[in-house]
Amino acid sequence: MKDCRAAVITAHNQPLEIQRVPIPDLEPGALLVRIEASTLCGTDVHRWHGSLSDADSLPMITGHEPCGTVEAIHGKRTDILGHPVKPGDRVVWSYVACGSCYYCSVALQPCICPGRASWGHNRSDRYPYLLGSCAEYMYVPPPCLIIQVPEEVSSASAAAAACAYRTVMHGFDRLGAIKSHETVVVQGSGPLGNFATAVARDHGARQVLVIGAPAARLKVTKRMGADAVLNLEEVTDPKERRQWVLDHTDGRGADIVIQVANNLAVPEGLTMLRDGGRFVNIGAGGNANIAARSLPQEMTFHTIRSGEPRHWFQAIDFLASRKNVFPFEEMISASYTLDQVNEALQAMASYQVVKAVIKFP
Ligand SMILES: [Zn+2]
Ligand SMILES: [Zn+2]
Repeated sequence: MKDCRAAVITAHNQPLEIQRVPIPDLEPGALLVRIEASTLCGTDVHRWHGSLSDADSLPMITGHEPCGTVEAIHGKRTDILGHPVKPGDRVVWSYVACGSCYYCSVALQPCICPGRASWGHNRSDRYPYLLGSCAEYMYVPPPCLIIQVPEEVSSASAAAAACAYRTVMHGFDRLGAIKSHETVVVQGSGPLGNFATAVARDHGARQVLVIGAPAARLKVTKRMGADAVLNLEEVTDPKERRQWVLDHTDGRGADIVIQVANNLAVPEGLTMLRDGGRFVNIGAGGNANIAARSLPQEMTFHTIRSGEPRHWFQAIDFLASRKNVFPFEEMISASYTLDQVNEALQAMASYQVVKAVIKFP
């Protein structure tokens, strides 16, 4: 096997081409993985539009949310729990930080390591070629940590865990414990919002209130553990939305607000937080002005980027161990083949689907 098929961005805003891309020789410790599912996320749309990179970064294979089956390993590898990894195992794998910079080694914040490697934006005409997930195979560089995917987790859900869900786990890690009397407000009812709802419920919140849209998605949000949902399309006045939160919290505001929609929603989220509360900002996009004097007193603000290897593990483990509690499979809304990649990206770009998945037969 010398090459495989991959969805390649050759020019921004132009249809992706299905090209044959070389399968690289493996360095010691590297893996070759046959892709089972690749979910798409907003970042893939931004990279396609060109807002995140210049023309020098092309051609690139799109996609950074893979789950696949190990095809080959150079040498011996173990997974994040110390179990041997074998051909045929279904896996996801972490990003790689440099391990030696200030952020990695002194601050212990590897997600902001300037030398961090990630997928879906690497040139496909340079070794090791296969670093995007919309391809039949992907190359797994030696320092990546491997997480096995248990039978009870679908490849599509595991792929979503490789970006969306592990970022949510990172957010809860930084947030710390949720006390049993605390109210959590989640802003957003997409895959991150619904997953955050399940985790907040699981971590013992007294009540979880979710603000999102449209109505069909909020039905899933309810099944993911929300006590009450507010439809943004029905309640369009931010003052009324704030009042809804106050009505649920004795007039104080929420103990915790988790923003997973868009940075533009941060100022509104801050009006819903009580003095002394905790805010977790996971959403991307947008740029909101925040007046310092509008901040609740003694509040804590966390901004979250990506995840550390343990968050990949936590997301996969949550999907497996809470499978009978939350209907995770309902979050992935549309399935495509590799040849339909343009249709899939277009559907994401126009917000027709929440989470598209490319499945490989
Ligand atoms: Zn993503
Ligand atoms: Zn580093």
